[in-house]
Amino acid sequence: MGYDKSIPSNIVKEIFDEAIRMVPKIKELKMVDKWSGLRPYSEDEKPVLGFAPNYKNFIIATGHFKNGFLLAPITGKLVSELIADGRTSLKIDELSPKR
Ligand SMILES: Cc1cc2nc3c(=O)[nH]c(=O)nc-3n(C[C@H](O)[C@H](O)[C@H](O)COP(=O)(O)OP(=O)(O)OC[C@H]3O[C@@H](n4cnc5c(N)ncnc54)[C@H](O)[C@@H]3O)c2cc1C
Repeated sequence: MGYDKSIPSNIVKEIFDEAIRMVPKIKELKMVDKWSGLRPYSEDEKPVLGFAPNYKNFIIATGHFKNGFLLAPITGKLVSELIADGRTSLKIDELSPKR
């Protein structure tokens, strides 16, 4: 939640127990690492994509929330168009960092 990237041991146990329930052999495995990530999103939950206000040639592409992998191809295409042409083939006003 928020910017908290801590990994509570009770949550790790919960996930581990559930994994073991599904695949009992997992019980024999040794945990070597843990990781947590954030899913940043904007107030309207739409990605933020476009030229940053008040900066020259600074493009923002963030706030993809739970869909960053899914939206990576189109985000890459739109960012490359902004870099190459200064505009996009799709209308992206509603994603503007200025909103
Ligand atoms: C648990 C989890 C499950 C998810 N599942 C899905 C899914 O099933 N499908 C899906 O589409 N999306 C999923 N997502 C969302 C997806 O991971 C994100 O939307 C996507 O990774 C965002 O990409 P990004 O490049 O904007 O940011 P990030 O992937 O967060 O990349 C930002 C990068 O900037 C680096 N960085 C940060 N600060 C600095 C700094 N000051 N200087 C230099 N580098 C810096 C970071 O280290 C990081 O490498 C999931 C996210 C989480 C956390």
